[in-house]
This record gives sequence, structure tokens and C-alpha cells, in this order.
Amino acid sequence: LGRIFTEQFAFSAGDSVVVIGLGRFGGAVAQSLMRLGHDVMGIDRKEELVQLWSERLTHAVQADSTNENVMLQLGVADFSHAIVAIGSDLAASLMTLMVLSELGIKDIWVKAMTPEHGQIAQRIGAHHVVYPEADMGARVAHLITGRLMDFIEFEDGFAIAKINAPAETHNLTLAESHVRARFGVTVVGVKRLNEDFQHALGETRILPGDLLIVSGPTKKIELFAGGEK
Ligand code: ADP
Repeated sequence: LGRIFTEQFAFSAGDSVVVIGLGRFGGAVAQSLMRLGHDVMGIDRKEELVQLWSERLTHAVQADSTNENVMLQLGVADFSHAIVAIGSDLAASLMTLMVLSELGIKDIWVKAMTPEHGQIAQRIGAHHVVYPEADMGARVAHLITGRLMDFIEFEDGFAIAKINAPAETHNLTLAESHVRARFGVTVVGVKRLNEDFQHALGETRILPGDLLIVSGPTKKIELFAGGEK
């Protein structure tokens, strides 16, 4: 889960991020940010969690993030990005957001549990709101039928997916099977067993068992993956 969401952050290398709430989501985000080479300060009010994370983050601090003085003393104002990963305690999430806004942080992300939570967060200064549970639920719904092996949807119903090469493409080049004209999707990459993904070209020949990365409208990708026109 954390991997997907950290990829939404357009940080340049060396940016510093404060992650507030080291629960399952906040922890995953913090860990992925560390892997990407950023400085991460994790804050949680639970001592056990802070101990658990202290070895793995640049800093892990036990504190109540709704206390502005404490946050100021911790140097939170110097961070370029912050994410409020407090989910269930709505008041604590919003109070923390207000503190971060007061401290002048330029890029504040908030994990929201409900649309109401997200709307309020946006009104009181969140620059970005993410809905990990709702987004993951929607993603799994696409994956669960087994036609799509991986799937990322962008705005306006446009997506990229990993699928098994449909029978219509077998033993033909992409130019010969006219995938784009017939199905309205573009094959971006092709992977053969035990080989790396290759960029797809018109002359790329697809074999049974190949994996394809395709882009296009979500509905068309679903139809293509299911072998329907
Ligand atoms: P998840 O589902 O990702 O585990 P939770 O809402 O259960 O999310 O976890 C949020 C974390 O945020 C918890 O570890 C909790 O201790 C921490 N937290 C909640 N309120 C505060 C606060 N005011 N200050 C610091 N940490 C907090």
C-alpha cells in the first residue's frame, strides 16, 4: 500500500518529510520514503510504535502532534513536506493539519477515511488528500476477477494495467493484430517468461504466455483483457 502512495509524491531527492501517525499506512509511507532516499521524521504518540520505527527512520519521536509548541520545538516547521497519517481519530487528524498549516508547511498531505474527512481537510489547508482504503478497494475490485494482474487508474477513467496477452494477439506482431484500432488500447510493454519488460513496437511479436502492459480507457482494457471487442 505504501509503495503506491509514495509514488504519488513528486519529491526531488533529498527532500525532508515528516510523517505523523506511524500506524500501518503511515509506517508504510515512511519506510518507502526512506528507501527513496529522503530524510524522514516519524511522529506518533504511542511509545511502542516510536521504538519500533526508531531504527528505520532518520528520526522517530514520541509526541502529540496536536500540540503546536511541541511540534515547533521538534523543528517540524523546517520540513518541506508533511503527511498526516492519522485515520481513525478525526479530531486529531484535523487538529494536526491545523498545526502544520500554522507552522507554514508548504506541502501537506492528509490520509482521509471518509469523503467528509477529506473535504474538511481540504478546506482547512491540506494540499493533497488521499483515500488509501477506498482507492485500494476499487483497485482490488479490478484485480479480483483475475483479468488484470496489476492496475493503476488515473483521472477520467484512464488506466495502465498488466495483463496476460489475449488470444487475439498470439503469434502476431502488434501491427498485424491492429490492437489499437480494434480494441482502443495501446500496448506499451511486453514481457516474455524469464526476460525483462521490453518497450512494445509495431514489429513486436506476441507469443502465448507473454505479459503485456497496456494503457487506455479502463473499460477498454477490461474488454481487451477478457478477449472481447
Ligand atoms: P492505520 O490504519 O494506518 O494504522 P491508525 O489511525 O490506526 O491508522 O493509526 C494512526 C496512528 O496515529 C496511530 O499509531 C496513533 O497512535 C497515531 N496518532 C493518533 N493521534 C495522534 C496524535 N495526536 N499525535 C501523534 N500520533 C497520533
